[in-house]
Amino acid sequence: MLKKIDVAQQFLVKNHQLFACPKCLTKMDVHGQELICQNHHSFTLSKKGTLFFLEKKMTTEYTKEMFLHRKNIIQQGLYEPLLSEIAQMMIPDAPVLDVGCGEGSFLEILGKNISAAKIGFDISKEGIYLATEQTTANTFFCVADLTHLPFSNQQFGTILNIFSPSNYHEFARVLKPGGQLIKVIPNQFYLKELRQALYTGEKATYSNAPVLKKLRETVNILQEKNLTYTLPTSNFTFSDLVKMTPLSWSADEKQLAELFQKPFSTITVDVTVAICQL
Ligand SMILES: [Zn+2]
Repeated sequence: MLKKIDVAQQFLVKNHQLFACPKCLTKMDVHGQELICQNHHSFTLSKKGTLFFLEKKMTTEYTKEMFLHRKNIIQQGLYEPLLSEIAQMMIPDAPVLDVGCGEGSFLEILGKNISAAKIGFDISKEGIYLATEQTTANTFFCVADLTHLPFSNQQFGTILNIFSPSNYHEFARVLKPGGQLIKVIPNQFYLKELRQALYTGEKATYSNAPVLKKLRETVNILQEKNLTYTLPTSNFTFSDLVKMTPLSWSADEKQLAELFQKPFSTITVDVTVAICQL
């Protein structure tokens, strides 16, 4: 069996045209296990077959532990209805970019029927290392900054932006003509049972209004859909459910202990899915 680094090197040889230097935006070529731009900026594959494009360390509220809980919950099916919705919207033969892919579970599932190259990136090295354990073929992961994408102009048919921040200027640059952005935004009742169990007052509620407003002002929305469903928590490992989001981070130990004693019985997913052109 090929090592991860060799699989990744083969991916780069085949798909180096997708990449551009994040420092100077010139095209990149593969030399051994390095990707080198026209101005000799070089990026070396890690043993796990990932590339690191960040100029400086960036902070994220996601920890390795959180990514592992998230991976379990996705495998246990919390997002299945959402993911089947998105799967129908994807273009099968054009490269896919997953923005803020975390541990890569969404791209692993959504990429199964996509023959073209798939790239996921995140600012978290921990997330990206975990992502290399996924099994969907023709998929590559890197650590990169949303505001300086290490990709060439007009390459991707679909950009996935699921529960992650956006940079519409950069998305417009790397999207092919006629390409689409699929953006998923949590709505008011997203994980409401968890939010209400951990918080009171202002923090117990959530509004996506600023995010939606920005989206509507910036892009051309071709289709917008609300998707809301509630599942029994008995479908899931309760601790995974509680610990998969930054929501549980600022909760105190006493509250968490009480929650585990008296778990809530249902969990709600409430999201907006928008297909957009830029
Ligand atoms: Zn460069």
